[in-house]
Amino acid sequence: MQIANSVVAITGGGQGLGRAMAEHLAKQGARLALVDVNEEALQASAEACREHGADVRTYVLNVADEVQVDEGFARINADFGGFHVLVNNAGIMRDGMLLKVKDGKVTDRMSLSQWQSVIDVNLTGVFLCGRAAAGIMAESGQGGVIVNISSLSRAGNMGQTNYSASKAGVATMTVSWGRELARYGIRVAGIAPGFINTDMVAQMRPEILDSLVKQVPLRRLGEQEEIASTVAFILENDYLNGRVLEIDGGARL
Ligand code: NAD
Repeated sequence: MQIANSVVAITGGGQGLGRAMAEHLAKQGARLALVDVNEEALQASAEACREHGADVRTYVLNVADEVQVDEGFARINADFGGFHVLVNNAGIMRDGMLLKVKDGKVTDRMSLSQWQSVIDVNLTGVFLCGRAAAGIMAESGQGGVIVNISSLSRAGNMGQTNYSASKAGVATMTVSWGRELARYGIRVAGIAPGFINTDMVAQMRPEILDSLVKQVPLRRLGEQEEIASTVAFILENDYLNGRVLEIDGGARL
């Protein structure tokens, strides 16, 4: 797929990796539909993309809400007169241990709402946006590309029962869709970033972050641009399908 003039929707496009992807693709001539719950962040991101000369529209919606997603993606398709790429990037973390035990008694547990909120955004959100986008792409007869953002944590991680489960689900959805959607001319691929220099990682305690970086063979955090350029690589490589690319400095080796 050629990036220039393609209509690209990016969920969580208001900040962090989503904004980095938007700016990277804006510089390559993509037309952008930025989706986020945070209107203020969306406007700032859109403004930055316009400075690169891009045609940008913003859509305030919650990816975990079926009606908002179906209506929002139909609007994107109508506004741009077509729709070619979805990047399922919106995600949240609500970390905590499954249990805390003191003096032989359980004193704390991951709450159901802590579990559910992450599953709703990270897993159901990807399902809903992917389903809406794939429907539009299949009906257009022109196909398209879906990029799902998973995580290194899909392998399972301390304190991330909810997040790891959601990101493992995103990785396997990528494989299922890679098999199912090819017949409609839709390619699907994932990215499992390692520890990337973003606000999400900045929320971690410094001593935890230090110990994580020590586990990375390249001994550094990844840069947002290194994930953004991987999205562009996926879009431009027409034989790439159903795979999750691990961009993590070798953390999983
Ligand atoms: P971030 O928190 O900086 O940005 C996430 C964006 O998603 C925000 O703009 C937020 O408003 C938006 N968002 C949250 N919930 C939403 C919802 N319900 N509907 C619509 N938008 C919503 O996060 P980030 O670090 O840029 O991470 C982006 C993605 O990359 C996430 O899926 C995350 O899990 C994944 N990831 C990040 C890292 C990292 O190191 N930062 C590593 C691996 C994977």
